[in-house]
Amino acid sequence: MTDATLSPTTAGQASASTDPALETYLEASREARHASYLELLRIPSISALSEHAPDCLRAAEWIAAELGRIGFDHVEVSPTGGHPVVYADWLHAPAAPTVLVYCHYDVQPVDPIELWETAPFEPFIRDGRVVGRGAADDKGQLHMHLRAFEALFATRGRLPLNIRIVFEGEEEASSEHLSGWLEANRVRLDADAVVISDTSFFEGNRPALCVGLRGLVYTQIDVTGPAQDMHSGGFGGLIENPANALARIVAALKDRDGVVQVPGFYDDVVELTRDQRHELAAMAYDGEAVRRHCDVPVLVGEAGYEPLERLGYRPTLDVNGIWGGFQGEGSKTIIPAHAHAKVSCRLVANQDPAVIFERLKAFVLSVAPPGVRVEVRLLGSSRPLVVDAGDPVAAAALEALETTFGARPYLTRSGGSIPVAEMFATQLGRAPVMLGFTNPDDHAHSPNEFMRLANYETGIRTICRFWDLVPERIR
Ligand SMILES: [Zn+2]
Repeated sequence: MTDATLSPTTAGQASASTDPALETYLEASREARHASYLELLRIPSISALSEHAPDCLRAAEWIAAELGRIGFDHVEVSPTGGHPVVYADWLHAPAAPTVLVYCHYDVQPVDPIELWETAPFEPFIRDGRVVGRGAADDKGQLHMHLRAFEALFATRGRLPLNIRIVFEGEEEASSEHLSGWLEANRVRLDADAVVISDTSFFEGNRPALCVGLRGLVYTQIDVTGPAQDMHSGGFGGLIENPANALARIVAALKDRDGVVQVPGFYDDVVELTRDQRHELAAMAYDGEAVRRHCDVPVLVGEAGYEPLERLGYRPTLDVNGIWGGFQGEGSKTIIPAHAHAKVSCRLVANQDPAVIFERLKAFVLSVAPPGVRVEVRLLGSSRPLVVDAGDPVAAAALEALETTFGARPYLTRSGGSIPVAEMFATQLGRAPVMLGFTNPDDHAHSPNEFMRLANYETGIRTICRFWDLVPERIR
């Protein structure tokens, strides 16, 4: 689907809901809905900056008030030790399943502010776009859920299933307190499925359902030589140089074909099936545009795999930072005392971060030259995540997307990681369904963030349809 077919003028009609009363309500409330969207965007809820803590609280209270007004029970701005979680539920459909909905109300900082064409927290709607920090990530998507629930309550007086709301305020600041909060609130988080709305459509604004996330192992390699920097004239040729040693270690990690050389690194990787390769080949991926966007001479990667395969289905290993020795102006003839590198791996199913770390560590130690001490430390990790293709909630999401947007959604795997998704998967024992709606060119985390109004409007109708479908799929 191109942007042309997803224009704001066709959005309302193309997506006419199966429920005429709902569509009438949504049409009649359009202006008020947009005003409310902008109101939420005006609250500068930047979680990373402590001076915005009162704004985060204000955003949480604004959302809580809306949830209460719409018809939810047990609405709470729940303390976490950091920015609060907004919790609410509606559990009056005894025969229907319970779904937990996650979004986040915090946003990224706005710098570099000089690259914004307009003030980030003075949002506006123009040319079918809602522009402002958080318009897409993730206040826009949170607001879509609010308005979808509002429309269902307003037209039917009830929801077709049981809902628990968890809206976080620290997603853009590492979700530091969420895992503890989930642990402490386990009882009231019991659900048959989790839905996260914090992802985007595929290139060309084609509807997509994200069914996989890569995991992560993040390490630091510390190479230590002499007790202090030594004269390279007096000691060069006698002692090992930690920077040289580190370069040899790093060079050993991958071969020229981009294949990671750590023994056993690929042992648990689930190979792509023929069907998956066909599906990916059919997706319109513009490698040349990516090359231009990155401003690099050529795209590279593991030999034998196409770009989309390498992004979603293959693990990687990258040096994220490397330093050591003299870096000032001019020259200084030393053998540095130490050198360091941050090295991380993106993992895919079924790699286990703990196992990969041990294998990486053993390999680094085995290739380290004598004459230096080498330490490999684990700084953080998360597991890869794959949503089962047979998952009934994912199937309901796909059907709702296809019917409402009028195009068969792509099944995408993100090359990145969403720690929250992994938290839900481990703590609640089920992989979340990642039903996201923003246009892929939304400038999330960047200046001039925006959401296409067509994605927002059609997305709200998709969400309503999705809630109607889920109880039919899970009994
Ligand atoms: Zn987000």
